[in-house]
Amino acid sequence: MKRPRVALIAHDKKKADLLLFVREHDDIFRKCELFATKTTGELLRDKIKLKITRMKSGPKGGDLQIGAMVVGDAIDFVLFLRDPLTAQPHEPDVSALMRVCDVHNVSLATNLATAEALVKEISVLQGNT
Ligand code: PGA
Repeated sequence: MKRPRVALIAHDKKKADLLLFVREHDDIFRKCELFATKTTGELLRDKIKLKITRMKSGPKGGDLQIGAMVVGDAIDFVLFLRDPLTAQPHEPDVSALMRVCDVHNVSLATNLATAEALVKEISVLQGNT
């Protein structure tokens, strides 16, 4: 099959968690086509040398760009580590992204527990044992 297309996004207080998580599953993510919002993508590129297509920063519309890709059937999985304890100026964009994932039945993980399930699903698709 074609490489799974995965969007990676983390709010600021969750970026360290995402970095650790992606590093732990490096073998799986390297076999994906990766997209991210700007700052998240820069972090993953700089710290673990992942090839990743970067959108605008989340607060500047990046979540909506990822959402548009979901609508256009250009993303298969969304891993979005949200910070549920900090108010975000772009909360409407975050909600819109989650909404279109539901509308289009695209797998969406918003915390590390569901991220593990999402990675297992990707791994099965990749034919890993
Ligand atoms: P960022 O955006 O990767 O540019 O920080 C993430 C977000 O806040 O949605």
